Amino acid sequence: LFKMWTSTQSIAKDLPLFSRDGGFIGPGFSNELDKLIELRDESHRLIVELQTEYAELTGLSKLKVRHNNALGYYVDITPRQINNIPKNSDSPFILRQTLINSVRYSTIKLSELETQIVNAADKALRCELSIFDTLSKEVCANADQITSTARALAELDVSLGLATLADERDYIKPIVDQTTVFEIENGRHPVVEATLSNFNEKKFIGNNCRLCGKSENVNDIAQIWLLSGPNMAGKSTFLRQCALISIMAQIGSYVPASSAHLGVVDRLFSRIGASDNLAQGRSTFMVEMIETATILNQAGPKSLVILDEIGRGTATFDGLSIAWAVVEHLHEKNFCRTLFATHYHELNVLADALERVQCRTMRVKEWRGDVVFLHEVVLGSADRSYGIHVGALAGLPNIVVQRAKQLLASLEKGEKSKIITKLVDDLPLFSALEQVSEDHVDNNRGDLLEDAVKPINLDEMTPKEAHNFLYKLKSIIETTP
Ligand code: ADP
Repeated sequence: LFKMWTSTQSIAKDLPLFSRDGGFIGPGFSNELDKLIELRDESHRLIVELQTEYAELTGLSKLKVRHNNALGYYVDITPRQINNIPKNSDSPFILRQTLINSVRYSTIKLSELETQIVNAADKALRCELSIFDTLSKEVCANADQITSTARALAELDVSLGLATLADERDYIKPIVDQTTVFEIENGRHPVVEATLSNFNEKKFIGNNCRLCGKSENVNDIAQIWLLSGPNMAGKSTFLRQCALISIMAQIGSYVPASSAHLGVVDRLFSRIGASDNLAQGRSTFMVEMIETATILNQAGPKSLVILDEIGRGTATFDGLSIAWAVVEHLHEKNFCRTLFATHYHELNVLADALERVQCRTMRVKEWRGDVVFLHEVVLGSADRSYGIHVGALAGLPNIVVQRAKQLLASLEKGEKSKIITKLVDDLPLFSALEQVSEDHVDNNRGDLLEDAVKPINLDEMTPKEAHNFLYKLKSIIETTP
């Protein structure tokens, strides 16, 4: 009954459909209804029995009893079988209709059964509707009680869910007070942690977070953490886990950490991910800027702000300048606790310039030319972004990865001003690089260098050819073991 009530709204909406078909009250609820349904179904069984009886009587094993709205139940045979129908006075068959492919008869027994079925089905349906009507009235009369019971059950359900989680996943009880402290020890992302453990992958690495607003600022605690580190190092995960922990703590849940002291967050702002709203004429960058503007206009000293890669949607210097100015505003005007993930290494100088800004980075280990993400948040700043490495991991063609490495090496040499035209002129483009790459397949560096140098006649080379040749040699060295 309770289940039925909870879907009262949709039942009411679909009532015409319901009332036409019936079948929504389960067996065992009403004796009267059960009996009517039995009678209706029993009559169906009797029709099948009659079909067998008529098949035997006529010797037509394929004789069928069918139903349509005009004739009701009738015996259906083909015109060629007509001689099998007894014509004596005892014959039960009454000719009703002759068509090209079908001759149809009714019988008194079939008509009687039809009446019985229609009556029983009709009575059953009316009985169901009356039960539904009584139920609806009863529910309406007790609506307040049912609603408050449902609310209580929902609350119990949520609390039980959170308690079970806390127990199974080793969550702890956070301290929540009126300070602006935000200290989490060994915090974890509740969903990423669960996903990793479900797939039996590596363990989730817990991380600490230590912030506080301007008012309580003591010694070495920052208001803003600038978090740098390569893609895939775990920056977004860290930002999100801190925000989630604050939400969980404030809904009264235990949290995934080994300890947590959180001053109440009055508003939580996040600017994460590349979402756009092209349908409303807003580009990704526009959305990013609108959300950032909202944060700067609304975040207060008790708020928590997480910002991921502000400015990445526009040209480098625009983006860097915006990110820089945003950090200054958060520090000087908003005073809110902030986690700011960025790939602009240049921003790290802000930690020296602004009193309550500190740098953190995701620890990365380089090992035999490979990069290992350790997912640990540590003091300091990233000096490289390892973007090309991530591209290689994602399956960019080797030729593109090698070309990107060359370009990066040039850019890092500080040739930024005239860089684009210069790179196009100076570096071997794809075709040359491709040649080198194909040459490499099965050879080691010594063989390749030898193969490259042997056929060259130095006296016949133009300076431009010699220059390109040097690049080819350099590329062999860089791309072979
Ligand atoms: P970023 O924002 O730096 O590009 P993400 O936060 O998206 O990196 O993390 C990339 C992946 O690394 C995640 O999908 C997750 O599988 C893994 N990861 C992130 N943080 C951790 C952690 N603390 N422990 C284990 N794995 C992690």
